Amino acid sequence: MNLNAETAAVLDGKATAKQIRQEVAAGSAELHASHGVVPGLTVVLVGDDPASSIYVRNKEKAAKKCGMNSSIVSLPANTTEDAIISTVERLNADPAVHGILVQLPLPDGVDEQRVIETIHPDKDVDGFHPQNAGRLMIGIPGFVPCTPAGVIEMLKRNEIELKGKHAVVIGRSNIVGKPMALLLLREHCTVTVCHSRTKDLPGVAAQADILIAAVGRLGMVDASFIRPGAVVVDVGIHRVEDEETVRRLFGEDEKRLEAVRTKGSTVAGDVHPVDARGRAGWLTPVPGGVGPLTIAMLLKNALDAARRSVGLD
Ligand code: NAD
Repeated sequence: MNLNAETAAVLDGKATAKQIRQEVAAGSAELHASHGVVPGLTVVLVGDDPASSIYVRNKEKAAKKCGMNSSIVSLPANTTEDAIISTVERLNADPAVHGILVQLPLPDGVDEQRVIETIHPDKDVDGFHPQNAGRLMIGIPGFVPCTPAGVIEMLKRNEIELKGKHAVVIGRSNIVGKPMALLLLREHCTVTVCHSRTKDLPGVAAQADILIAAVGRLGMVDASFIRPGAVVVDVGIHRVEDEETVRRLFGEDEKRLEAVRTKGSTVAGDVHPVDARGRAGWLTPVPGGVGPLTIAMLLKNALDAARRSVGLD
């Protein structure tokens, strides 16, 4: 561990994601050559939320680049819950579709859990179906949510020692915090999960060898949360649109300030970047840390789904 570091080493999620995407592309080509099967990923988008539309298009583009068939089923915002369910059922029955992803959040009034539970567990490449959550819980193969799976992949590929380390996860959502904690446990970490009711959060976090911030609060994890030399993984994504906040987080970072002036925003995480750089041993940047890994692991899950459909592990 990089103890007493003055500048944290960068955990480059973008580089790891590129490696994974190349492996997925090779795996897709192999599956096509050996079994004549092209992995198929279909994303269901309900409504026209601009952020969701961008995420969905990025997923489609990334899948195509890896040699997969990828399509988007766009449904209007007023689509009924039953019609969304019927769409998912149609995709469940389509043998050319190996992975189904329903982009969240769904419009108000639609029962997200019911929609998620309709996706066939073997096509649930987001890993949100209760059957896959249960599989993760008891440690048998299944689909694992992409963001925490990507974090583990990045830590392992960067040879960060996990066994016996104290990992603290801030956040207990079903898509990040809880699966993250289970995956760290699987890697033999001693795991503490923190949340909005945790007492003395900075004191608990500062005990971590490995600190995962998935709290959804811009720059909340400051120096007081970080043990010197710790590995700090920042899952948060926030758009920052004013120069004052940029200065509070990044100091006089001309590139960031320029981005706000010209493009209207820059992106930051849950971790205070300047504080963390001066205290952590390893740190994921935002952007370029956890974000790219999420899509890479989605592609890996889609390839795995296609492989399993022909009886390969
Ligand atoms: P969420 O809002 O569902 O969960 C946040 C968790 O943090 C909750 O469990 C809550 O208990 C805890 N929390 C909230 N405020 C707290 C506080 N003041 N102190 C302690 N704990 C507190 O969010 P999520 O979906 O788990 O996402 C977390 C962050 O990660 C968000 O910024 C989100 O945008 C980002 N995210 C990034 C990716 C990616 O690809 N990089 C993927 C998913 C989510």
